[in-house]
Amino acid sequence: MKKFLMLILAGTLLLTACVLSYQIFLDTDRQAVADSLQTKKKRKQPPKPTWIDNGSNVVVYLVPHQDDEVLTFSVPILNDIRGGKKVYLVLMSDGRGTFARTVLNGKFDQKNPHKKAKPFYCRLHKRYHDPQKEHYLHGWLTIEDVAEIRLREFYHAAEALGIPSNQVRLNMIEHFTYDTVRQVILQEVKNFPNAVFKSMSPIDSHKEHAMCGIVLNDLLREGKVKQAETHFASIFTDRFSHKKFPGYKMRLTHQEDAAKVRKALKAYMTWNPEHGEYAIGYHSVPSQFISMERRIYTKIIQEKRPTEQEPVKKQVATVKAE
Ligand SMILES: [Zn+2]
Ligand SMILES: [Zn+2]
Repeated sequence: MKKFLMLILAGTLLLTACVLSYQIFLDTDRQAVADSLQTKKKRKQPPKPTWIDNGSNVVVYLVPHQDDEVLTFSVPILNDIRGGKKVYLVLMSDGRGTFARTVLNGKFDQKNPHKKAKPFYCRLHKRYHDPQKEHYLHGWLTIEDVAEIRLREFYHAAEALGIPSNQVRLNMIEHFTYDTVRQVILQEVKNFPNAVFKSMSPIDSHKEHAMCGIVLNDLLREGKVKQAETHFASIFTDRFSHKKFPGYKMRLTHQEDAAKVRKALKAYMTWNPEHGEYAIGYHSVPSQFISMERRIYTKIIQEKRPTEQEPVKKQVATVKAE
């Protein structure tokens, strides 16, 4: 009898152990399934953008074309960096359409069928270029070559100004319409929600520059951009458009930064075709590079705001005139 009881007890114990381990197995299995579902769920979610910087000391410069960051923005950029700001650049076009390609090839090609093979003189080098005779690393420069080389010039210039490539974003558009520019800025606002956005004035003489200012001001009014500055005149507008704008010249807060500006200008002026450096920026707007090298400043446009007395004076003047 005792043996029988012992047998029953052992059997019960064995059964309990079995049930328990099965339960543990089930639980583990359920956990594994849940884990795998979770992983699948996680995998389905889009990867988090690595670009977000929600710092409030961030300044984002909207750069319509390569060279604008040095010819127009280098002074405020360097002053911002000196002021402890983290500066990002957003380049909005790749500059592949520049006529400098024709200058560097020495003649037109099939991209200009009506002028095909017509020679084009380089006023910088005072000769007709010849990619073959001058041993260009790329040979005849195609539109794609130019886009790639210009981008390299841009990255070098940014680096010279103290902006590493991981603070440079490419958000390229082909045409600067109100909608395309707006889309670019709205995308960047998501990446830099607390940044100060800076670009050129809405009254800039260059239409593509002006569009950046127009849209940026609208987004500021709509509350979609928290902070913006659009009082920068492009070097073309300030020094070559023969128009006068009220304002002042912004200069470097630290004179030693002039060397950085010159180094950034050099990135677009280096002529070493055998090694793939063709000074494309310089060939595009030579006088602007020379002008910036000589006089380093950025024109800030200050539109006249009426003071408290002015409206009264105006009224009096109107009455007198009548
Ligand atoms: Zn430009
Ligand atoms: Zn040349």
